[in-house]
Amino acid sequence: WSSRDFPWTKELEVNNKKVFGNHSFRPNQREIINATISGCDVFVLMPTGGGKSLTYQLPALIRRGITLVISPLVSLIQDQIMHLLQANIPAAYLSANMEWTEQLEILRELNSDYCKYKLLYVTPEKIAKSDNLLRHLESLHVRELLERIVIDEAHCVSQWGHDFRPDYQGLGILKQKFPNTPVLALTATATASVKEDVVQALGLVNCIIFRQSFNRQNLWYSVIPKTKKCLEDIDKFIRENHFDECGIIYCLSRMDCEKVAEKLQECGHKCAFYHASMDPSQRASVQKQWSKDEINIICATVAFGMGINKPDVRFVIHHSLPKSIEGYHQECGRAGRDGQRASCVLYYSYSDYIRVKHMLSQGAIEQSPITPGYNRSNMINSGRILETNTENLQRMVSYCENDVDCRRLLQLAHFGEKFDCSACQKTCDNCLKITNFIEKDVTEIAKQLVELVKLTGQRFSSSHILEVYRGSLSQMVKKHRHETLSLHGAGKHLAKSEASRILHHLVIEDFLMEEVKKSDFYGSVSSILKVNESKVRNLVAGQRIILRFPSSVKASKPGKSDA
Ligand code: ADP
Ligand code: ZN
Repeated sequence: WSSRDFPWTKELEVNNKKVFGNHSFRPNQREIINATISGCDVFVLMPTGGGKSLTYQLPALIRRGITLVISPLVSLIQDQIMHLLQANIPAAYLSANMEWTEQLEILRELNSDYCKYKLLYVTPEKIAKSDNLLRHLESLHVRELLERIVIDEAHCVSQWGHDFRPDYQGLGILKQKFPNTPVLALTATATASVKEDVVQALGLVNCIIFRQSFNRQNLWYSVIPKTKKCLEDIDKFIRENHFDECGIIYCLSRMDCEKVAEKLQECGHKCAFYHASMDPSQRASVQKQWSKDEINIICATVAFGMGINKPDVRFVIHHSLPKSIEGYHQECGRAGRDGQRASCVLYYSYSDYIRVKHMLSQGAIEQSPITPGYNRSNMINSGRILETNTENLQRMVSYCENDVDCRRLLQLAHFGEKFDCSACQKTCDNCLKITNFIEKDVTEIAKQLVELVKLTGQRFSSSHILEVYRGSLSQMVKKHRHETLSLHGAGKHLAKSEASRILHHLVIEDFLMEEVKKSDFYGSVSSILKVNESKVRNLVAGQRIILRFPSSVKASKPGKSDA
């Protein structure tokens, strides 16, 4: 879309400098603003920190009517309103947990002929559940004062996304009621299928799409095997690379947050924890201390982050497996908003995968910020959503287990974006360590592993299968007399990491299915492997499995021992 001059161009530039204090526009900002002021429906995909807010706040300022902004989270709204009021832009918000008298006052102002507000923020359940608000919007519309509708964090509409919120699905009503009011949908995360979903659910017509590369060149990515010494590793990593700098450590459970924070405090870091079961005043206090640099490090569930605007976050550490690549990309995106170098380190263990998967099936994972009225049970009971979540999680596992391909390439491929690895400039662990790789056909090994799962009666865990395959004579192996199986030791020529990558690949690609056997929430969870016959038929019919390995690992054929 065009960046040429429009009747409003002068006013835009003046206000961008005078009111927002920006010397120029960032990529796409000017084009998006021109498109939306021209009256088009617009869909914007822009990475976190790209400057989405300006694309509706600036038009709101220079147009006559009111801009309605739907945003998922009260704390995020409050933060925006504070900034707007500081810049002397009149703005207000309505949310379900506000005093009724306060709400009435705002509604009264909306009814007045000279309504002072330029922007009105509401949470999505206000649209889904309040006819009263819709009536007020209609009245604004009739008086030609409803200038534009903005849907922030628009990916929340989609069940395929990592952050589905049922109330967002009701937003299609806006386009039905106000077909001529331009809609501007914004998100920092959308795959092709999510995008389709959003455009359809919101009923956008002939929508203009802006997208820019999601590559964040100043972020350095790595995945590190998670061991029992993980917390010591984290302490050492921060000490050596980011001493006294600001960072976020994402943890899976509330208890993990507290445990990690406690340990790091013992090590002398200025650290606090943050999760959804703390009361709002506690949370606000932690957030405030953090933005004032009284605390350097926050150990948090994903409840912490959306709307975090701190520019100098120097590291984001994942203490356990994120739920999806999209989520991971967005969580990492909170680092280095100032454009300076920042680290993103993920500690990965396969046992975390089992744990996360189990928690997902129980609906026990803290979602990113809880909006009032957001109904958790909706999320758990739907089989389709659970399936999507599991798939997203498996993609995350294969990202972690991949020790060959550029991390940027892997992440961006997920957003449908092609990336030339040479542009990574060795700023990810894989590019850094790999100069050469080889492609290896592991089909025969895969068949043997499947066979072994069958031979042992589909009752054992992946680690046991690996032990037997690599010829272990452990107590457990002997107890079940598995050393007598024909395939015992068939894979003894393989490195453990190599064998386990192949086995995990079989799970991720659904040749084998992992069934959780027993668990206690914060302790261990075990699982057993079963064979998915319908998929395995493809293997028998000749499907090949090809994986990349660093060229230092020797290509090997199954069944032949080196001895
Ligand atoms: P997003 O919502 O895309 O994550 P924000 O709208 O919060 O990003 O903007 C991120 C930061 O960039 C903010 O601090 C904002 O003030 C700043 N910013 C936005 N546009 C510009 C610009 N044109 N010039 C300079 N800074 C900008
Ligand atoms: Zn790379």
